[in-house]
Amino acid sequence: MISLGVESTAHTFGIGIINDKGEVLANAKDMYKTEKGGILPTEAKEHHLRLKNEILERALKEAKLRIEDMDIISFSQGPGLPPCLVVGKDFAKELALKYKKPLVGVNHLISHLEIGKIFTKAKDSVFILATGANTQIIAFEGEKYRIFGECLSIAVGNALDKFGRNIDLGFPAGPRIEELAKKGKYIEMPYVVKGMDVEYSGIVTHAVNLYKKGAKKEDLCFSIQETIFSMLTEVAERAMAHTGKKELLLIGGVAANKRLIEMLTIMCNERKAKFYVVPVEYSGDQGVMIAWQGVLEYKRNKKYYNNLDIKKVDINSNWRIDG
Ligand code: AMP
Ligand code: MG
Repeated sequence: MISLGVESTAHTFGIGIINDKGEVLANAKDMYKTEKGGILPTEAKEHHLRLKNEILERALKEAKLRIEDMDIISFSQGPGLPPCLVVGKDFAKELALKYKKPLVGVNHLISHLEIGKIFTKAKDSVFILATGANTQIIAFEGEKYRIFGECLSIAVGNALDKFGRNIDLGFPAGPRIEELAKKGKYIEMPYVVKGMDVEYSGIVTHAVNLYKKGAKKEDLCFSIQETIFSMLTEVAERAMAHTGKKELLLIGGVAANKRLIEMLTIMCNERKAKFYVVPVEYSGDQGVMIAWQGVLEYKRNKKYYNNLDIKKVDINSNWRIDG
């Protein structure tokens, strides 16, 4: 069985193709970026509309397949930015109707977790989902994914991007902050963990104020990373202690960060737990994870998808992972 997945929840338009053995056949994507300023949903939408056909062509070429060869068409149904989600939904619908294929709308967050599982040997882990829009500590308990802790205001990736926007690093700021941090020294930052939850907006405001007063970019990048990643490490460790799980799996775009990986490696070594990170190519948003989640959902509920009235399928922009 071969699945084509369309990703368009936020900055990235991606098309992935995978078979039901978990072999990736194509991973074509393009990310909307800016030199200065953050992500503007309407501009991201324009980006997706402009590139969707080209990315589809690239994916099919890479896989050496035609759309006729697909068994299902999957798409990111939510959560995400509505203008962006609509582009992916309409495109996937159009393909499903034209080529008479089942359409499978999937949860973008769960697909991040499931793709992490096929690329690592993790079996029963606590997950840290660290993306632009989400920060959640998750574990599978009692037959479903449950959230043990999350960000109270803005997500870890968003905190980095917001800070970056204020010091002119452009979007996405995470990789630039990681580079600058290598030359920085520590300045004290507010550290806010409430139970199992983390709060990042105060740190961003504090760091931006220090920047306006003349603090060095490098020092602020180093300190913001140290602080927000320590907070995440603390709650992940507590979730592992609570659930008794001996594995941790880091996923989401922020999983590209070497310093975060280093902190979590140390924590897991101290607990004699295994630590896994999703490969960088699959840590951020891409269509492969959507295609894979489509395989899982379709196999679970074939009858439903084979009888679905595709014309009525819509986005679910606030879809929670435990919903
Ligand atoms: P996602 O939403 O999962 O696609 O992830 C995108 C987010 O990951 C953005 O907020 C980026 O700033 C962030 N990101 C990407 N690379 C890095 C990095 N090396 N360090 C920190 N954050 C990163
Ligand atoms: Mg994502």
